[in-house]
Amino acid sequence: MNEIVGTLPRQFYWKGLHVPFIAPWSRERSPASTIIRVGQGIGYAGEVSAADRRHGNLWIRQAAVRGAGDPDLAGVHPLRQRQAMSHMLCQVCGKSTFDSDFVRWGERHLFLVRAVEGRPIGEGERTTTPPVCRPCAIESVGVCPHLRKGYTAALVKCAQPWGIAGIVYDPRTLKPILPDTKDRLTEASFNSRLIRWTLAARDVTTLHGCTTIDLEQLAAQGVTA
Ligand SMILES: [Zn+2]
Repeated sequence: MNEIVGTLPRQFYWKGLHVPFIAPWSRERSPASTIIRVGQGIGYAGEVSAADRRHGNLWIRQAAVRGAGDPDLAGVHPLRQRQAMSHMLCQVCGKSTFDSDFVRWGERHLFLVRAVEGRPIGEGERTTTPPVCRPCAIESVGVCPHLRKGYTAALVKCAQPWGIAGIVYDPRTLKPILPDTKDRLTEASFNSRLIRWTLAARDVTTLHGCTTIDLEQLAAQGVTA
């Protein structure tokens, strides 16, 4: 959590694949903790650490030791996802996307968002996927040709914090309410009451000023800035 924006974090490879910055590793475990009621919301039993909350919202506890154990390439480490969203770091290499491409693109960030049947990214669309730098986007497309079909690329003028995605606890029973979705997470906006009952696992932002671009065209531009 102390990385300086602009520096390149250590890169890891696993069986020839570039391990994304936001991927969790098997030894990055969540310590056992008990959720309790604190006023009109949730907290941890014996909560003392300021690191447990951000903007007053309770966050999942998870160790942060990149490179320890085996990576889960498709998974998301909550705190690194938040770090990448907060500072606009590339989700793959962890470097700032306030780079020379950002300047060349008229101060815009590149986002790859899972596309439903090729649908372009809509104005104000919510996402939990941090931006990606151009070299990493090109690398991803090269490694993963189906990415071109399953994802839409867009240059985005503004990514605005919207809320969190996490596990909602029933205010009466304090039991987790798990929706029937792949990640079992529920989105809660900063303005909602629900957020006080939600254990955050992702930052959610809305994307504004979106211009869809062709990933293959982007790749054809080469890797020079
Ligand atoms: Zn990158």
